[in-house]
Amino acid sequence: MNPRVIRQLPESVINQIAAGEVVERPASIVKELLENALDAGAGSVDIELEEGGIGRIQIRDDGSGIPADQLALALTRHCTSKIASADDLPVLVTLGFRGEALAAIGSVAETSITSRTADAPHGWRIAQQASRAPGPVAPAAHPRGTTVVARDLFAQVPARRRFLKRPQTELLHILNLVRRVAFCTPGVAFTVAHDGRPSLQLPAASDARAAERRQRALFGAEFAGRARYVDAVADGVRVFGWVGGAALAHSQADLQMLAVNGRVIRDRHLAHAVRMAFDEQLPAGRFPSFALHLEMAPDAVDVNVHPGKIEVRFRDLRTVHDVLHAAVRDALSRPALPPGAATAYVDERPVATRATSLLRDAGSPPAAHAVDLPRQAASAPAAGACAAEVLAVIDERYAVLAELGGCALIDLAALVEQTVARRLAQPWTARPLVIPIRIECTDEAGAARLAATLEALGLEITPLGGRTLALRAVPVALPPVDPSCFGAALAAGGHDSGAGLLAAAAGRALQIPAARERSAWLGRLLGAAEEAGVEPARYRRALGAAALGRLFADAEA
Ligand code: ADP
Ligand code: MG
Repeated sequence: MNPRVIRQLPESVINQIAAGEVVERPASIVKELLENALDAGAGSVDIELEEGGIGRIQIRDDGSGIPADQLALALTRHCTSKIASADDLPVLVTLGFRGEALAAIGSVAETSITSRTADAPHGWRIAQQASRAPGPVAPAAHPRGTTVVARDLFAQVPARRRFLKRPQTELLHILNLVRRVAFCTPGVAFTVAHDGRPSLQLPAASDARAAERRQRALFGAEFAGRARYVDAVADGVRVFGWVGGAALAHSQADLQMLAVNGRVIRDRHLAHAVRMAFDEQLPAGRFPSFALHLEMAPDAVDVNVHPGKIEVRFRDLRTVHDVLHAAVRDALSRPALPPGAATAYVDERPVATRATSLLRDAGSPPAAHAVDLPRQAASAPAAGACAAEVLAVIDERYAVLAELGGCALIDLAALVEQTVARRLAQPWTARPLVIPIRIECTDEAGAARLAATLEALGLEITPLGGRTLALRAVPVALPPVDPSCFGAALAAGGHDSGAGLLAAAAGRALQIPAARERSAWLGRLLGAAEEAGVEPARYRRALGAAALGRLFADAEA
């Protein structure tokens, strides 16, 4: 062969070269398929594996599905629905965007995709032998969503197959990966089964109990029960999640999760920021345990640095570093919660109607009734913290506070609504969501109207087909609300227009999931209200001992 003749490499070879970047081992396939499922707005993802994924990987999601006429394209290199031009890159909020993953997988494993969109009467399937052209698209039974199966990894590339480890080792890589992905997407349920047996079950964190079960499955009971909650916002960066005190440090850096805008990353500067927050408390050879999220505007971070997308570049690393450091130091300096405090939970629903009438009865102006509460006398609140302990939240709307002078009830929904409305009246920016919020409208026309309204407000919306939308970024002014309720509230208020819609939906979607987060949440809300010039006192009613007794009577019955 004349070595100087330059030839176009066959497409299959180009794909295999590209696959070297994308597919190293079964876990890389799982990673790409999970990212696709999440990009498609999946609410639950089921993973089935055989032989550590070497024999078979199957991933099923309930996301938007792929239209039949695009199935072949999805398997073709450089075909992506996610970017139209390089201009899209800096503000990208989807996880995958190179349009290489499925083609790469198809070149090293026997691959099939079965998928159904919301408006299709049935599903469609396409299959491809490793590195051959895809076969024809044929009808197939499938619920809404997508199932991708990849079999016999590297059967055609023995040199690569030899580099794979034992199935058990490959399985561990996959489980670690699923944990990391699941950490970023608390609203999505995941299951993993290996050789027919369940290995990981992560319910969606839809309420406090499910959130705790998920935490436990993800990080183990000790970390889930004893780590401190972090939540801070400064300089356009939000930090939230958990950090373990020195006693929870490990001898390896094996419980260190850091996500930026919903993507797990590795960054030694930021790991260092966390470590420094421990001052002298951590001896050499001990590694802090943490599971933290960072949220910031999409253009504050460049995700297009590393092909595996593990590293990112921050526009202002110094600021991110400092905000993270301060947030962790702050969390570590607070006393740890006593055992059991995190799980103390009153079933609050039955007393809702009582609370409503109490709030009405209390009338205005609020009178200060001192109440003898055994637990409230002891300790003064820490400076800078919220000066009230939230005893309970009733009907996801009314907070019962123990204060130094007694007890009070706050109408949180009304306070949120007013605060958000005021803040939206000022110039505002959007921040990407860790989990896109799914909005199910009553019909397709309603979905189109709502999408237009939200887009006019500067929010980012992806239609998922039919009457379903995905909200991918929300205004910074919005306080943290339960995403599923927020989606439902937006859909219900779809006939309204303008910023009032958001404020009302935020009020309706108010939820404070775990006991340990309540006081911090309230503190932030009061701070936000003050900044926006809303007077929180208007929403606060003092409670007498009798009223308080009545309030809790139903809960105990
Ligand atoms: P990328 O994710 O980089 O766009 P992929 O090769 O992973 O490239 O996927 C190609 C295209 O196939 C995606 O852009 C998307 O439109 C579609 N797709 C892949 N997986 C799914 C899925 N699980 N649900 C819906 N659409 C999908
Ligand atoms: Mg992808």
